[in-house]
Amino acid sequence: MFIIDAHLDLAMNAMEWNRDYRTPIDVIRAREQGMTDKPDRGNSVVCFPELRKGNIGLVVATQIARYVAPDNSLPGWHSPEQAWAQTQAQLAWYKAMEEAGELVQITDLASLDKHVAWWNDGTPNDKKPIGYILSLEGADSLVTVQHLERAHAYGLRAVGPGHYGPGRYAQGTNATGGIGNAGRALLAEMERLNIILDATHLCDDSFWEAMDHFHGRVWASHNNTRALVDHNRQFSDEQLRELIRRGAVIGGVMDTWMMVPEWIRNVSTPLSMDCGLEKLIDHMDHICQIAGNADHIAIGSDLDGAFGREQSPYDIETIADLQKLPALLAKRGYSQADIEKILHGNWLRFLRHAWK
Ligand SMILES: [Zn+2]
Repeated sequence: MFIIDAHLDLAMNAMEWNRDYRTPIDVIRAREQGMTDKPDRGNSVVCFPELRKGNIGLVVATQIARYVAPDNSLPGWHSPEQAWAQTQAQLAWYKAMEEAGELVQITDLASLDKHVAWWNDGTPNDKKPIGYILSLEGADSLVTVQHLERAHAYGLRAVGPGHYGPGRYAQGTNATGGIGNAGRALLAEMERLNIILDATHLCDDSFWEAMDHFHGRVWASHNNTRALVDHNRQFSDEQLRELIRRGAVIGGVMDTWMMVPEWIRNVSTPLSMDCGLEKLIDHMDHICQIAGNADHIAIGSDLDGAFGREQSPYDIETIADLQKLPALLAKRGYSQADIEKILHGNWLRFLRHAWK
């Protein structure tokens, strides 16, 4: 089945992990043996051949670079200008992959419909470029709000104003506080440019302030539920109701600490915690119960978001294993029509509405 994955950090892996996504997964893993600079060395599950094998023909792919003030111990850049430059390096990699015939950028209704029709025309997809929609995870790198217009011109179509910790335009996971004047100005500019607001990673204060001030289209690219794993990174039922009311689609995220409670980093394993894809369906089910339908759930795997096999569902050897979801959903009683919505239909409906 055709799959859309709404959250991958492709360029971050290319530029900071030094992974050539054109090479087979065993080759990427083999070159990382003995390396300890990143938590997921030797365990990657994403590369272009595996995306094609899994019939994942369209992804939302990020630019990501945090600004950190002197008192902030998170990894990041010491000035917004450095963060901007990092996102421009990431953009240059996406463009190089377009020139190499590996990726094709999707920016509007015409390019979306053309790509989806081509990908699903019945011919083998092992030579076709994978479609990508450019998104910015954390807006710190926008040196000024005016930089957003430049970013829109090179194809940026979604922005999550926050990431982890305090941000320049919004407060993210594990932080507190609202979006303030800078955040409101950013949201107004996003609305003017018809850029999608990604609600993922907004802390509760910033989430509600953003909802009050943004009148454009909202999605949550990679988010699970607080009811099942109690953490501020997850959405409360009240937040889920607001997102559903606004027509949002919420991508289920496959980082195991967000799937099962009490995950301990570097100690727990997917098997010891019994964390398979079934656990993701529990979160999806919870959202469907609130919505009364299956129109608001989809996939936003995050499977190359600084973790790999060590922190992915035990039935994911590579991202191609997303193809296990249709059978698991069917076993849980989802109809064929609903399964198609979850694997691609809900994202397509959202995008067609947002870009009409
Ligand atoms: Zn994220």
